[in-house]
Amino acid sequence: MPFDIHIIGGGLAGSEAAWQLAESGVRVRLSEMRGGGDTTAAHQTDRFAEMVCSNSFRSDDAEHNAVGLLHQEMRMLDSLVMRAADKHRVPAGSALAVDREAFAAEVTGAIEQHPNITIVRERIDSLPGHPTIIATGPLTGSKLAEAIAAQTGEGALAFFDAIAPIVHRDSIDMDVAWMAARWDKGGKDYINCPLDKAQYEDFVAALIDGEKMPFHDWEKDTPYFEGCMPIEVMAERGPETLRHGPMKPVGLDNPRTGRWPYAVVQLRQDNALGTLWNMVGFQTKQKHGEQVRIFRTIPGLENAEFARLGGIHRNSFINSPRLLDRELRLKSTPNIRFAGQITGCEGYVESAAVGILAARFAAAELRNDRLPPPPIETALGALLGHITGGADAETFQPMNVNFGLMPPIEGRWKRADRKKAYTDRARAAFGEWLAAIRHPGLDPGPAFSFRKAEEKADAGSSPA
Ligand SMILES: Cc1cc2nc3c(=O)[nH]c(=O)nc-3n(C[C@H](O)[C@H](O)[C@H](O)COP(=O)(O)OP(=O)(O)OC[C@H]3O[C@@H](n4cnc5c(N)ncnc54)[C@H](O)[C@@H]3O)c2cc1C
Repeated sequence: MPFDIHIIGGGLAGSEAAWQLAESGVRVRLSEMRGGGDTTAAHQTDRFAEMVCSNSFRSDDAEHNAVGLLHQEMRMLDSLVMRAADKHRVPAGSALAVDREAFAAEVTGAIEQHPNITIVRERIDSLPGHPTIIATGPLTGSKLAEAIAAQTGEGALAFFDAIAPIVHRDSIDMDVAWMAARWDKGGKDYINCPLDKAQYEDFVAALIDGEKMPFHDWEKDTPYFEGCMPIEVMAERGPETLRHGPMKPVGLDNPRTGRWPYAVVQLRQDNALGTLWNMVGFQTKQKHGEQVRIFRTIPGLENAEFARLGGIHRNSFINSPRLLDRELRLKSTPNIRFAGQITGCEGYVESAAVGILAARFAAAELRNDRLPPPPIETALGALLGHITGGADAETFQPMNVNFGLMPPIEGRWKRADRKKAYTDRARAAFGEWLAAIRHPGLDPGPAFSFRKAEEKADAGSSPA
């Protein structure tokens, strides 16, 4: 059957994108290599939207949780993935967990029966010349990955992530930490957390003793580049290694003592909004619970709230903030869009969500129309904004949806109230956007500009 758009990959993102396009009347060719003689190291079946690990879509609380809010927005956009998840949910408290077999069978059935979708069980090894959405996920076939790398340039496609924890700025105790750059060079761009000798030694011991996540068999050849070695591997090399590496204190006068501390943990701004800060050089394989326990022993981070914890995995993802425009098109080759985890979002839900957006942008373009991106205050808009503009391209690593990707809500709030304020604001913004895209006469308002936000922040900051 002739097609209007080609989707490569029938995972969470590709299935959702195919469904969204087909429902809007667009003819889709969906190429999936599983079932055609190929597979990935993690998939077990040839079904669409297979969940390769946990069976959870995480919190379904749309009032106090960013991923719960994302569920709600996706449902309002007729998400196939959410419909199948709701239909096959299993008891899991406030989380949305599903019967993975029934879930994947439901998605597969819907795709197979759709008259506008042609399924081809084939592996694609090169970038097509026609309109395409690449949704090949964290385990993209190696030849296609090479083709993407060749098209996007050196270093633009990563094969492993090396994720340092990211902390919400407003949870850092600035009565203990301070802003400075080493030797006072440049602006006061880093948040510095000081450790004395005893604190440092306890910290190093905790890192060495902490429980680590094992690598999968097929990840065991994970290359450790000197620049992104797990912090616990550095700690194991000797008690002084970290003090000469990411915890080096030289040139950092603590304004409260007038001296260099014994060791320092530095955090660097991670998004244009300034709400998220990454722990520089702290990529780690410690289990998540251990990370929270150990990193909260760092002075200034006792009450740290983590937007994401560290990790190192096999994971193909492109440098989206550099490569993609706001409609998920490759700037150098605009007939190619990306969706799902390969864009640098992280997780089943986020991947499907980016699948919805890629499909809806593509459908609008095929109609010679333009879909305004969802507002930055919404979960979908915040996720899209982060991967296509808000994140720092230099340190870009995969990211889950979280409130730190949205413009901050000012003022003093109780924790639960602040979360509710984020979701209330998001619902209002999403409602207006939805009304505007369903009734094109309404104005959805100007798209958020990270550049303008940065200029505003610069104008408001006191001179260094
Ligand atoms: C081992 C592992 C465990 C994970 N655990 C979790 C978890 O517990 N919770 C969570 O939320 N997320 C988890 N993730 C992340 C998860 O993969 C993604 O969240 C989600 O599946 C990504 O959706 P996607 O559609 O982008 O990719 P996928 O769902 O992986 O789909 C990509 C599809 O593209 C196909 N494909 C690849 N290359 C080609 C090619 N060249 N030609 C044709 N088809 C191709 C693949 O066969 C696959 O079907 C895990 C990932 C891995 C690798």
